[in-house]
Amino acid sequence: MNTLVWLEQFRGVARAISWEALGAARHLGGKVVAAILGSGVEKVAQEAIARGADTVYLADDPTLAAYRTDPYVATLKSIVAQAKPDAFLIGATARGRDLAAALAAELDTGLAADCLDLSVDGSGALHATRPVYAGNLLATITFSEKRPQMATLRARAFPAAEADANRPSEIVRVPAALPEDQIGVKVLEFQAEEGKVSLADARIVVSGGRAVRGPEGFALVRELAEVLGGALGASRAAVDAGWIPYAYQVGQTGRTVRPDLYIACGISGAVQHLAGMGSAKVIVAINKDADAPIFKVAKYGIVGDIFEVVPALTAEFKKRLGK
Ligand SMILES: Cc1cc2nc3c(=O)[nH]c(=O)nc-3n(C[C@H](O)[C@H](O)[C@H](O)COP(=O)(O)OP(=O)(O)OC[C@H]3O[C@@H](n4cnc5c(N)ncnc54)[C@H](O)[C@@H]3O)c2cc1C
Repeated sequence: MNTLVWLEQFRGVARAISWEALGAARHLGGKVVAAILGSGVEKVAQEAIARGADTVYLADDPTLAAYRTDPYVATLKSIVAQAKPDAFLIGATARGRDLAAALAAELDTGLAADCLDLSVDGSGALHATRPVYAGNLLATITFSEKRPQMATLRARAFPAAEADANRPSEIVRVPAALPEDQIGVKVLEFQAEEGKVSLADARIVVSGGRAVRGPEGFALVRELAEVLGGALGASRAAVDAGWIPYAYQVGQTGRTVRPDLYIACGISGAVQHLAGMGSAKVIVAINKDADAPIFKVAKYGIVGDIFEVVPALTAEFKKRLGK
């Protein structure tokens, strides 16, 4: 098995999903090859080696500084021609989805999107497990004879590759495939949302459920998240009620999070919610119903009213953290 992984980076820093994809590739066994495209990204290539890539293809060129579909697809196509991977893994981020779809079409090969699990059989065929029918079922699919077998991976579904500095590896430098005057898209500027912690990358997530009773209730949950330096999340019930945008939804049909700490405020613990946060290291549940299913997965449970418990926690953390 020879697995290629696209390492997504932004301004020279690898996204967490890149190391998760590398971890998934290592788990499949065989040779792990990484591709890093950007400008001034040699550091990411070195980190990929430390995290276990056997070979890193590095395309370092100003035309690749910001993600653009055409130059990225053209350059990765030339890397695929050299590396001849059996499988090609890409994080299912906004850029990753765009890239994977365009590249699969260019390479005339199959793509399994948004995978939660991967395995390989004795013949080198990839088995990719992904949600179907709005998350009601998990389907495991295989590919035709065409190679590479492509898959995008859902964030936080795979453990990240740990650093292992002793593995031998090589960096292969490749040129960017398209000169600037052949790229139809120009990136004029980036506008980042200030002060917000990304839900997918957060180490601490504080989520609110139907119990928050409205957008105002989320102010309490948001305040606790902010004091802890964490991200805000929500159950689908709260999203469906229109109290908070879908981008915050955690669960089978929302985001998968794998934080160190997940605090569920007034969330019952339906199986579809657990699908998105059940692998958090420590789960704390606050619910006034002592029999709520969320307590079965929680390490610490507080039976109480969120409108009393959450402000009390926020006040105490503020004091202890000196905020
Ligand atoms: C195909 C499909 C996909 C789905 N995908 C998702 C998904 O991605 N994410 C998701 O979250 N759900 C998803 N669901 C919905 C899921 O089944 C549940 O309906 C949903 O998670 C319930 O949200 P909740 O826990 O906030 O609400 P409820 O189940 O209504 O629970 C509210 C909880 O709050 C407690 N409570 C009430 N008042 C207070 C208070 N004042 N203080 C403390 N506790 C209080 C109650 O005891 C209760 O346990 C999906 C369902 C289907 C069928």
